[in-house]
Amino acid sequence: MPRQTHLLDQAARWVDEARRVVVLTGAGISTDSGIPDFRGPNGVWTRNPEAEKQSNIQYYLSDPQVRRASWQARLVHPAWSAQPNAGHAALVALERRGKLHALITQNIDELHQLAGNSADRVIEVHGTLRRVMCWTCGARRPMQQALDRVRAGEADPPCEECGGILKSDTISFGQALVPEVIDRAMRVATEADLFIAVGSTLQVQPVAGAVPRAKRAGARLVILNAEPTACDTLADIVLRGSITQALPRICGEI
Ligand code: NAD
Repeated sequence: MPRQTHLLDQAARWVDEARRVVVLTGAGISTDSGIPDFRGPNGVWTRNPEAEKQSNIQYYLSDPQVRRASWQARLVHPAWSAQPNAGHAALVALERRGKLHALITQNIDELHQLAGNSADRVIEVHGTLRRVMCWTCGARRPMQQALDRVRAGEADPPCEECGGILKSDTISFGQALVPEVIDRAMRVATEADLFIAVGSTLQVQPVAGAVPRAKRAGARLVILNAEPTACDTLADIVLRGSITQALPRICGEI
């Protein structure tokens, strides 16, 4: 039996045995839904390093041109037409089997909730693209309302409450995480008996710190990613390959 097939079967057996599976997902689970990752071979930043500025809070707040470019990018973001794929569906199957303790995601696309995972199981450590927030007063509104204003001619629409700068309700580089959210992610990591990291380079801190935490607390660790990750040396099983093919084999299908 080829080694990867053997490892997939082993990971599936560990899911069968587990009672509290915690999954950490990154951008790689959504690429087969048409949303590119940042650092993979076809990643947004791999192809255009300048685009990284739009994810940096200092540039965003200080440079109106960066904000205008961000609004234009949001108008055509692939998330608006993306549908969950077999990888997302596998995590819904895991929840239906009563095994999913928590789903920590770095993604901002809400495809886990669209696929059918319960909102209270999904911990969005980097926020969501489907809302905007005002940097000054903290008001939150649906993203589509703000995009309607951009379509109507406002290149950089200000907050309707206070006139402050609006941005997507996501965590940019240089921006603090929401303490309760990241604390919850770190806590559930220590409660796992099996921790599965999927589609992430595991380079973004502090969320990647959930991986060594889970391991130290005694969880088995499975990493599934097309490329090497920063935590491969900690893993009990490293799976290389397609998430949409491998995850249903590990977690089950709906
Ligand atoms: P990343 O871009 O650093 O890494 C993604 C990894 O997934 C890469 O190593 C790539 O090789 C792998 N990958 C891509 N498609 C795959 C597939 N089909 N099967 C197997 N592996 C695959 O992603 P990250 O670690 O999540 O960090 C990027 C940050 O950017 C995150 O914090 C996230 O907030 C944000 N982001 C989110 C989205 C989204 O919401 N869908 C998209 C891009 C970036």
